[in-house]
Amino acid sequence: MNKLTIDEVSLQNKRVLMRVDFNVPLDGGKVTDDTRIRAALPSIHKVLKSGGKLILMSHLGRPKGQRAEKYSLKPAAEQLSQLLGKSVTLAPDCVGTETEDLVGKMQNGDVVVLENLRFHAEEEANDAEFARKLAALADVYINDAFGAAHRAHASTEGVTHIISQSAAGYLMEKELRSLGTLLADPARPFIAIIGGAKISGKIDVIRNLLPRVDAILVGGGMVYTFLRSKGVETGKSLVEEDKMSVAQAVYDFLGSVQNRNNAELVLPDDHVVAASIDAAAGKNVEEIPADLLGVDIGPKAIARYQGLIASARTIFWNGPMGVFENGAFAKGTMSVAAAVAKATDNGGFSVVGGGDSVSALMKSGLSGHISHISTGGGASLEFMSGKALPGVEALTPAS
Ligand code: AMP
Repeated sequence: MNKLTIDEVSLQNKRVLMRVDFNVPLDGGKVTDDTRIRAALPSIHKVLKSGGKLILMSHLGRPKGQRAEKYSLKPAAEQLSQLLGKSVTLAPDCVGTETEDLVGKMQNGDVVVLENLRFHAEEEANDAEFARKLAALADVYINDAFGAAHRAHASTEGVTHIISQSAAGYLMEKELRSLGTLLADPARPFIAIIGGAKISGKIDVIRNLLPRVDAILVGGGMVYTFLRSKGVETGKSLVEEDKMSVAQAVYDFLGSVQNRNNAELVLPDDHVVAASIDAAAGKNVEEIPADLLGVDIGPKAIARYQGLIASARTIFWNGPMGVFENGAFAKGTMSVAAAVAKATDNGGFSVVGGGDSVSALMKSGLSGHISHISTGGGASLEFMSGKALPGVEALTPAS
């Protein structure tokens, strides 16, 4: 890690402004999944143990620059208070005199959660004056919000121009180390499993991974654009007509001398097809009929993917294998989840990147059998695409 980390800054007696990702799901004013809050606890405990004054800031939902009570961080602050077993104060806003006064009265070991950053449009606009107001609350800045690191906002980027010490928290470090291992030094065989709706959402990741992996197993809607680009009948399946050339460029790479690892792009041998994604059941086919659409990978594909996953020593998984929200078409995704968990139990290193693959893992109860589950869907995809994350770039270089 070439950036300053939380272990390298003095926190005692300091006002520590920490960007966290408390963008948690709510129902009736209660947090329904506190994974993201728990993920920030190691850094939170570190500041409190070191005798700092902890000022936490986060966004929640999309209030679009307007104050809206349903996006208040109150439930998150209450949940944090429960987890810490101590009182946590929610500031009335993230900037302004009242908040400044509240922070001015803090004692070492106190915790204040600033109200939702996105109640101000200046946050996402990375407004310099807004960043200055946030930065004025603190002596030291810690960024532990990996899930927001792909955005150059006032709380992730702007403040670092003003606070002289800007360090990565433990969660940020762990995310960068785990994802970084995949790109820099993966044990082989390295298998990536890429699913989801469209090629367009994942092509940058596929392009960046192809020279690094031994195989990419493809699932989800993007299968059909790859098949169609080879002239295969795909019926009513999701096909991105304008992405045919992108699919073709992937095949061109695989057949070229640049494909030094002899990487393979593995498409399903068979499919589950149905009349619609809401159908009660589907049928298994090798050739997709003209009036039906592909909604999951079929049993032969599941068996092949499971075999390949079992042989892998490094695994990266992003995106469902089918329309898994419909239980009738969740088998491919759940089977992949089980295979990744098993390969990890057998000594493999696995990273699951955000979004739907994480919900599938949670549903299957196998999340404890994965080496690293990324807390940032968008951020992990950008990182795996080889792009720099503004929130990481902005941190103080390690001395
Ligand atoms: P993404 O956000 O790109 O990872 O896509 C996730 C979405 O892809 C989920 O909502 C799935 O229902 C959807 N999906 C997966 N397989 C298919 C498919 N065969 N056809 C249409 N949508 C799919």
